[in-house]
Amino acid sequence: MDKQIWIGTNWKMTKDLEESISYSKALLNLNRKLKENIQLFIIPSYPFISQVKELVKESTIKVGAQNMHWEDVGAYTGEVSPKMLKDLHIDLVELGHSERRQYYNENDIDINKKVKSALRHNIKPLVCIGENLEEKSFGLSKEVLSSQLKVCLSEVSIDDISKVIIAYEPVWAIGENGIPADEDYVDMVHNYLRDQLINMYGEIGNQVTLLYGGSVNTDNYLKYIELANIDGLFIGRAAWDMESFEEILLTLNDKF
Ligand code: PEP
Repeated sequence: MDKQIWIGTNWKMTKDLEESISYSKALLNLNRKLKENIQLFIIPSYPFISQVKELVKESTIKVGAQNMHWEDVGAYTGEVSPKMLKDLHIDLVELGHSERRQYYNENDIDINKKVKSALRHNIKPLVCIGENLEEKSFGLSKEVLSSQLKVCLSEVSIDDISKVIIAYEPVWAIGENGIPADEDYVDMVHNYLRDQLINMYGEIGNQVTLLYGGSVNTDNYLKYIELANIDGLFIGRAAWDMESFEEILLTLNDKF
């Protein structure tokens, strides 16, 4: 079988109900044109997960949540539990996006609790890691990433590790003010992450899906996807616009 490529998008807090539905319908049509090895996923806002999942449930498109608490139940106002997400038939959960870390003070220890909880509930954890500009400028990227991997994956067993997706998203490359990363730098980091996973888990470290994200767009996606240790792309703005997303997906479909 051709190499499996994961391509997905987190909508953040950008789409209302109508937009969530029309986007999902358009993506459903597009997915019909794609080969099976292109694995799409979308991560709507909590209130619309149900409707989006219902629309795409007969397709291969996976649906995720943007966050969750690690406890099943409790006095945690404003939080959503893995059990609740299971009720919505969620496939995956994004954990540790840099905006969660930056605005809501999430740290690697919290993320580790969430990763273990997701695995217990059979929800695929998609763990975001990445250094910020200051850390990069001091030459600390590898140290930061190694520590994020070690803490976020602490106590994740060898049997579970291949269920985890890691998204490398350098904080300085994300969003409106992000600077697209040089592909040589991304190559170096992804090779390093793969080596770290192999150090931690042996050969099975090769089976962890490694995504790249941060200002991926129609001009640069091919440079990233062709790198050896990239199994897919996590795309923000360029995927919210169906026209550019379609261009990316149809080209990848022809190439892989
Ligand atoms: C993100 O915020 O995770 C992201 C990848 O966004 P963008 O592609 O818009 O930089």
